Amino acid sequence: MTVRRRIGEGRWERTDTLAYKEEGSAPFKAITRQILFDDPRLQCQLRYFEIAPGGYSTLERHEHMHAVMIVRGRGRCLLGDAVHEVELHDLVTIAPLTWHQLRAAPDEPLGFLCMVNNERDRPQLPTPEQLAELRRNPAVAAFLDG
Ligand code: MN
Repeated sequence: MTVRRRIGEGRWERTDTLAYKEEGSAPFKAITRQILFDDPRLQCQLRYFEIAPGGYSTLERHEHMHAVMIVRGRGRCLLGDAVHEVELHDLVTIAPLTWHQLRAAPDEPLGFLCMVNNERDRPQLPTPEQLAELRRNPAVAAFLDG
């Protein structure tokens, strides 16, 4: 089947809404995952993530890249040591080994498409020392504290 119709805000027919990650595997809050494209001939996946108001993705980094487009709501993202406001149709490129986290606004969800390689390395979580280093920047500390 080559067309899966949209059936609502951030929903497509015949597409399961999945847990973001295994519960307890990493810190995150109020986020779901849907796999929109996953075909070995294309060697990448396109996923849709939706973060509920006040929620956030895991603070992580990895060798593989992400290409992200915001398609619902607004929020902020941490990229390296900089915090950015993001809103509808903004594009975010997350380079290899860049610390990143997305947070929905307190009063709006944040939905985004995220393209990744099919085969990819496991995300790294910050050590306490790396977290302390990130938090040395007051803007980053304020972001991480929500
Ligand atoms: Mn990531």
